[in-house]
Amino acid sequence: MKRLKYEKRPSQAGRRPLRAALKVLSGEVATRHGGLGAQLSELEGALRMARNAVEGARLANARLREAIEILPQGIVFLDSEGRYVLWNEQYSRIYHRSADLFKVGAKLADTLRVGVMRGDYPAAKGCEDEWIAERLAKMRTPQERHEQWLSDGRCILIEERHTSDGGIIGLRVDITELKEREASFRLLFEANPVPMFVVSEAGKTILSANAAARNHYGYPEAELIGKPVHSLHVTGDRGQLDALYSSEPGILADHVWTHLKRDGSAIEVAIYSQSIVHDRSPAVLVAAVDITERRRAEAQVAYLAHHDPLTGLANRTAHIEHAEQMLSAISVSGGLGASLCVGLDNFKSVNETMGPAAGDLLLQACARRISKTLRQGSEAARVGGDEFGIVMRDVSDPEEVSAVARRLIDVIGAPFKIQGQQVTIGASIGIAVAPGDGEEAGKLLKNANLALSQVKLRGKGSFRYFEAEMNARAQERRRLESDLRTAIEGNALDVHYQPLVSLTSGRIVAAEALVRWAHGERGFISPAEFIPIAEEAGLIWALGDFVLRRACRDATAWPEHVRVAVNLSPMQFRCGNVREMVESALAATGLSPDRLELEITESLFLDRSNMVLDTLADLRNLGTHIAMDDFGTGYSSLGYLCSFPFDKIKIDRSFVQGIASNVEKQAVVRAIVGLGETLGKTTTAEGIETDAELACLRSIGCEQGQGYLFSKARPQDALLPFLTKRKPKRVA
Ligand code: C2E
Ligand code: MG
Ligand code: MG
Repeated sequence: MKRLKYEKRPSQAGRRPLRAALKVLSGEVATRHGGLGAQLSELEGALRMARNAVEGARLANARLREAIEILPQGIVFLDSEGRYVLWNEQYSRIYHRSADLFKVGAKLADTLRVGVMRGDYPAAKGCEDEWIAERLAKMRTPQERHEQWLSDGRCILIEERHTSDGGIIGLRVDITELKEREASFRLLFEANPVPMFVVSEAGKTILSANAAARNHYGYPEAELIGKPVHSLHVTGDRGQLDALYSSEPGILADHVWTHLKRDGSAIEVAIYSQSIVHDRSPAVLVAAVDITERRRAEAQVAYLAHHDPLTGLANRTAHIEHAEQMLSAISVSGGLGASLCVGLDNFKSVNETMGPAAGDLLLQACARRISKTLRQGSEAARVGGDEFGIVMRDVSDPEEVSAVARRLIDVIGAPFKIQGQQVTIGASIGIAVAPGDGEEAGKLLKNANLALSQVKLRGKGSFRYFEAEMNARAQERRRLESDLRTAIEGNALDVHYQPLVSLTSGRIVAAEALVRWAHGERGFISPAEFIPIAEEAGLIWALGDFVLRRACRDATAWPEHVRVAVNLSPMQFRCGNVREMVESALAATGLSPDRLELEITESLFLDRSNMVLDTLADLRNLGTHIAMDDFGTGYSSLGYLCSFPFDKIKIDRSFVQGIASNVEKQAVVRAIVGLGETLGKTTTAEGIETDAELACLRSIGCEQGQGYLFSKARPQDALLPFLTKRKPKRVA
């Protein structure tokens, strides 16, 4: 081998004289001695063969060189004594720091030593001799491949084999990039916050698990390694696991798997896998992303998209979907369905009085009662602050819907216990029946809503079915609302006064201010019709303020002993400071507070709020009088009679009408009058129209009366002479 590279071939110049000499010699010998000539020609033949052999060897050497230069690895041939025989460029490049020492015949051990001294081998530092001895021993008895780190940070994989002549052939591969990749992979794997496993493709056992996997699943490393990966899964997953932990797991990319932690708790995971080679065997690298929380959050978002978070009922979106489903079902199978729109009466005042926390509890309690009341196939939703929607399927008779509506009104009307207090509210319900009242969800729900607004306008606490005219009525109402606004702004309202008469003396003791609206097209419109509109449209404050000021001003022209009574809507207590309004009206007109009576209704006490009671106490402290109007028609809890010291009870007209011939009414009025006497309140009977009613009321002991029998409400100029000149003729 040695000769292959370095033995010098005879030069052309050297060979020519020899050949010439042989030629001459052979010619001479051949002529002088025939035998010797033959020998010489043999010799020449041998010489030719030798030359051919040399040429062959030269060619073989050149081919070998070319071959080893082509190889990407470094290659070195050493003789049996460890001397350099042959090496390629790549070898020189790998050991470029020692390349100057590579000489044919130089010993590798020596170059190694020099390299160690130069610090080319970081592993040798501090144990130079041992390291060299070990390295040479490995070379003498080559077995395993091994790695060698160089001082410039490169890593060389060394593989050595004995050759047949006792020498050594050594291969050197620069695996620095590989090592770097391996190191990055290790880092990516081990330090990855996502739990990762390496699973053997053949046995489906866990070969490696990163720290995140160990921590997340709660296993010590020893328990995890060698564990069948299937055991991480719940049994339900198992059918597809072979496919998941295979070389082509992509098909299951979107699947959500359930893994079990060591403590038995289940987590939902998305599994991303990739086939790799691990320790020269096919394996699958698995990243298990715990999506339990994400899924929980997604489920929560999906839930919230269709539910009201406060009551847990369906929300408006879901309600519309329920209606759509019901409508499409009846469009296929026929039959009826219904949409109920349930509004809570008086919820707002409870909310304002007791606070939003109590309001929330009340809504939750209502939702529970509604849900309990519904039959199967009906779905309830909360569709507004104090509004619930119900979709009823499979209705065979509208009477079923009426029965449900009645039950709902009953259960919602029953007292609630909220924060230790008894609270009573009511329910009004509008009903639209499908398909007649709407074949499309939006229309059906709108019509149910329209029916509800009609209930609210004309007597809460009941239910109504949608009627086609309601649309026209709703439009009419909107028009009325706009006209009323214009009338208030344009000062087009008027105030009339209806006298209150002492049933004992017959004298006019007061006059009640009643607002009047002469509509351009419709003539006089009853306040019973437009006051609720003013309340809902937010016009009541302006209207009330106008009436109060006008009444106080007009009353200053009346005889001193005649008081003026002004009606206050509960809504005024909610939307402004009533005491300030009254003070300001009194101050502006100079009317004595003692001449002002403020009429409130029982519904004000549904609030049970301190704010209402405080305002009423303030008003009384100002010196005004408080009258309880329409007594007996409201929610009639007698409790408020004690909770607030008012001055007058006005017995509602419904008890007065026909009282002369109705013993029950007489009994009720007698009881109220008795109550008034005991509590020290004046009693006034409203709506006296006949002499018989008057006589009956006087016999019962009612102190004051008001009604068409004495006078209708009249404008100020018609009232004045009535007050001063005339005594009501019917009073004896
Ligand atoms: P109210 O306060 O109970 O007023 C008495 C109502 O009964 C008046 O109706 C009056 O005209 C009517 N009335 C009086 N005597 C008789 C009678 O003998 N027979 C009959 N059938 N009716 C009689 P009006 O003026 O239509 O007012 C209706 C309601 O509108 C009032 O009831 C009151 O609640 C409200 N209202 C009227 N003006 C105002 C106001 O300025 N502010 C507020 N907040 N409400 C008002
Ligand atoms: Mg009144
Ligand atoms: Mg009244």
